[in-house]
Amino acid sequence: MNELRREPLLGRWVVVVGDSLGPEDYHLPEEAPAETGCVLCEEHGTERFKLDDQSGKWRIRVIEPEDSFFTLQEEMGRKGVGIYDRMNAVGLTEVVIESPEHDRAPEDYGDDHFSDLIEVFYQRLKTIEEDPRIRYVMIHKNCGLQSGDPFGHPHTYITATPVIPMRIKAELDGAKNYYGYKERCIFCDIMHEELRSKERIVMETERFLVFTPFAARFPFECWILPRRHRCSFKDTDPDERKDLGVVMRRLILAMRKVLRDPPYNYVIHTAPSRIPRMAQWHTLGEDYHWHIEVMPRIRKLTGFELGSGMYILTTSPEDAAKYIKEEVAYGD
Ligand SMILES: [Zn+2]
Ligand SMILES: [Zn+2]
Ligand SMILES: [Zn+2]
Repeated sequence: MNELRREPLLGRWVVVVGDSLGPEDYHLPEEAPAETGCVLCEEHGTERFKLDDQSGKWRIRVIEPEDSFFTLQEEMGRKGVGIYDRMNAVGLTEVVIESPEHDRAPEDYGDDHFSDLIEVFYQRLKTIEEDPRIRYVMIHKNCGLQSGDPFGHPHTYITATPVIPMRIKAELDGAKNYYGYKERCIFCDIMHEELRSKERIVMETERFLVFTPFAARFPFECWILPRRHRCSFKDTDPDERKDLGVVMRRLILAMRKVLRDPPYNYVIHTAPSRIPRMAQWHTLGEDYHWHIEVMPRIRKLTGFELGSGMYILTTSPEDAAKYIKEEVAYGD
């Protein structure tokens, strides 16, 4: 029997099909062969940060690409045109090149490499948020052609915008509303419920919980939640970041194994910069809880889903959790 489920944060409905598809039922279109020449292998853009190995060769490098959508060189230029609003694309795009080797992903190195990568995200977030024009910093990964990956070289994007993106705003509003009538953080409540039911848990460590959300959008979608309540990724401590590297690496390796190297995206959802408009976010520290959403892209969205925002989940979160959990337990 198919089932409708309501996601508690955004109030979005999803259809969970009764008979889950197994990982082997998803057939991905062949990826096109890589074009010759990779800009991330060559010198490209302006270097903003790097981590070297012992021999002085870079392991992780952050660049500002030449063709960024956003730039910090401009005034905001905010104005109304009739009923419309417009402003200059003030902001910043950075590419974190996660590996000097084109065909070697960060999870193919050791845990330390992944933890260093998390540390780089943290350092960049802290630095970029110092600019008062920036309202939101989004750290997001595209891996595989179907995910919108333009390079084919392991990388993550950091995009800083002068506005809060709609999806983030909806999440912040949802968390704030929930807090408004329950005086509790919705993410902490979700975490308690997941730990109580245990049906969707993929991995547990001292500092993190990984689970498939009750009303996920994508089959095999996983969320990573820190056990310690903090609204911003900027408020993490060094032990958390080290542990996060281990957790992410294990999850991605398990996902690659179970779904045969799927294209995927992940995004770090963190609080907006609180420097501008401090008053607007007075309960933010209590009501929002930073987290990571990992979304395999193994199924194309239909017109119904794009038009309605109501997703069809062809593998139940409970079944997906079992498949990944098994690989997490036995992998490595
Ligand atoms: Zn490359
Ligand atoms: Zn919380
Ligand atoms: Zn989120």
